[in-house]
Amino acid sequence: MGNAMVALKARLADLYNLGMASAVLGWDQRVFMPAGGAESRARQLATLAKLHHEMGVSRETQDLLAAAEAEGAGGGDGASDDAALLRVARRDLDKAIKVPTSLVVEMTEVCSLAEEIWVKARAENDYASFAPWLERIVGLKRQYAAAIGYQKRIYNALLDDFEEGMTADVLDPLFEELKQAAVELAGAIRAKGQRGRDKILKRACEEAKQEVFSRKVVADCGFDFSRGRLDRTVHPFCTNFSPNDVRITMRYDKNWLPGALFGCLHEMGHAFYEMNIKAEYEGTPLAGGVSLGVHESQSRLWENMVGRSRGFWEHYYPELQRTFPRAFKDVSVDKFYQAINAVAPSLIRVEADEVTYNLHIILRYEMETQLLEGKLSVADAPAAWNAKMKAYLGIEVPSDREGILQDVHWSGGGIGYFPTYSLGNILATQFFEAAVRAKPEIPTDIAGGKFGGLFAWLKENVHQYGRKYPPAELVKRATGETLTTRPYAAYLKRKFGEVYGL
Ligand code: ZN
Repeated sequence: MGNAMVALKARLADLYNLGMASAVLGWDQRVFMPAGGAESRARQLATLAKLHHEMGVSRETQDLLAAAEAEGAGGGDGASDDAALLRVARRDLDKAIKVPTSLVVEMTEVCSLAEEIWVKARAENDYASFAPWLERIVGLKRQYAAAIGYQKRIYNALLDDFEEGMTADVLDPLFEELKQAAVELAGAIRAKGQRGRDKILKRACEEAKQEVFSRKVVADCGFDFSRGRLDRTVHPFCTNFSPNDVRITMRYDKNWLPGALFGCLHEMGHAFYEMNIKAEYEGTPLAGGVSLGVHESQSRLWENMVGRSRGFWEHYYPELQRTFPRAFKDVSVDKFYQAINAVAPSLIRVEADEVTYNLHIILRYEMETQLLEGKLSVADAPAAWNAKMKAYLGIEVPSDREGILQDVHWSGGGIGYFPTYSLGNILATQFFEAAVRAKPEIPTDIAGGKFGGLFAWLKENVHQYGRKYPPAELVKRATGETLTTRPYAAYLKRKFGEVYGL
């Protein structure tokens, strides 16, 4: 390694450490911090964010990167880790440098305040108090997109922050296909008239026992508690301070077992990605998930393809019955499996089943593009939301609280983010199918409570690379295919055709 590369890596390590220090503060804020600490914590986080941005775009960082580029990464073929590091560092720097510090500061402040406003507006079902803030955020996002620059559609500038290389022109036909398939499948299920299959999941299950059971399951799957923690929070998430310190969080509801059960598997899937990135990448921009779509594919794979599979419960159901005898002693494993895979259009995205989930995403995606392109006003947004819920899911929205105000993302500036949830669903099936092609014993292993083969395949083919390859290239290398809905559509048809006897 040349001297310039050594110097650049030292600089990037400082940036990495600042980012991780922020993550510790953020985790503490959402897990342990008393309410009284909120304002001081916001100032501490803002200071770190300012230092990070200033150091990231400083003359010194620019010169170090340019010198390392001039020196070359070695290896010749451009496929070395150092070549990837230069590519990723250049991408991050070129984007960051286009955004004026004043805009970064304004976005941080407005979004931080808007989140507070949103919490109150949602609680009080008062869209009017949130609307001016959404207006400001959409305006700031337009400014941000203009600063970054984009091809054709303004949405592409925002999407690229979460999913490198993805564009609205690719998403439009993809989502149209998903929409039609979901409406058709949900309609066929509705025609069977078997509502209420999931009622048994509302039976009381002691929270402390839910936690014990969840801890055992994630440990069985491969979560290493010497390199991670599971704590309680209000809105579950996964974060990490290094590949050797990954934190997942959960909330428990006595009368809704699936929330924690599948929530833990979901966050564990995110955690595996971060835990399994090559150790040598720590301290560089390569140490992280390559995109939110690929990240979400890991959580959805463990949550749905493993956790909601028949085989998984052949192994775990007897133990679940022993843990919660009052709730499940009269319920067969078949009935339980049907309950955890019950399909019914619902108002709330995070509670949506696998069949209707993407309709929630498509609705938000369509509204985001229209808001950004000026085709929909903030004032008309709730009515547009309700009309789409009626058209896609066939349900009336009783209040904005259960409608447009339900998700935190827009208040925090997360516009351009939602499509990655659907991309995650699609990619989960592509990765899972490729893993089973390579190791046909995986489904039988899962039914025997053995997860090592799947874990190892994901580590080898997805996790270890971090941000080394752009998302599309990673998918191609791991699965032999580009992004395609074929395995996903086939999976949904097969699984729910069987669950509902279609
Ligand atoms: Zn997730």
